[in-house]
Amino acid sequence: MAGRHSKRPGLHVRIPEQSVSRPVGIVDSRTSVEHVVAGGAVAPHRLSYLAQCGAEILAASLTDPGRAHCAQCAR
Ligand SMILES: [Zn+2]
Repeated sequence: MAGRHSKRPGLHVRIPEQSVSRPVGIVDSRTSVEHVVAGGAVAPHRLSYLAQCGAEILAASLTDPGRAHCAQCAR
């Protein structure tokens, strides 16, 4: 019946993983403690994040070095 269209073009196009979401440290402006947030969640205009330890943090200015690192995020 149908023609022999068995020769499909290879559809194994690999989607390049854009900026692999590696965790980043974000300082909580309220406590000056640096928590770790999944990189994929980071957005330029976002102010609050859910840290890996489960804490909700408010991103401080990027120039704030923070005073401590969250022990739970550091696992
Ligand atoms: Zn934390």
